[in-house]
Amino acid sequence: MCEKMSVVTSGKPRQNNFFNVCSNCPNGCCRRVRPPLTQERKKIILSFLEANNIKMTDPFEEREYSYPKETAEGYCIFWNKTSRKCQVQPVKPETCVAGPVTFDINSRTGKIEWWLKKETVCPLAGALYKRREDLSYHMKSAKTEILRLVKGLSQEALHTIVTIQEPDTFKIDEDSLDHKSIVAPK
Ligand code: SF4
Repeated sequence: MCEKMSVVTSGKPRQNNFFNVCSNCPNGCCRRVRPPLTQERKKIILSFLEANNIKMTDPFEEREYSYPKETAEGYCIFWNKTSRKCQVQPVKPETCVAGPVTFDINSRTGKIEWWLKKETVCPLAGALYKRREDLSYHMKSAKTEILRLVKGLSQEALHTIVTIQEPDTFKIDEDSLDHKSIVAPK
């Protein structure tokens, strides 16, 4: 299942799992997904676009939090309709690397909770859940990515993001969070 390959961005190895798996899936996870972007991630993506001669001016939407602009059909601007692949794969947003694992922050317990998509919306998630070794391998990467994201977001952006409902998911794990301030109620 897992290709267990990694690419190097910003000097650190980054998981490259599932790239080919997801591009063959008809479910279209890159539509109306709005992955959060830190300032650092935006800089990395812009450098990647320039280095790879990908012409895309002003690709970010700035609302309560930053995310890639969407096409009229709601697809992420970085999604290539022809290849069905992400054009910024090596440097894509943290939540895109972590998928099909998502997160929530419980303001009552102060913990970060890890959730997995249901098989009905993500066949890959279903396969991972049955193959615990692969899930465990992926969780290490997913947690690293999401914790980096959480630390890089403003408190306001994070509060907005954790209020977004993700209905077809179920909780699989939780961890304590070091940064108490980010779970404080608004
Ligand atoms: S950045 Fe790439 S993986 Fe993430 S939603 Fe956009 S196209 Fe999909």
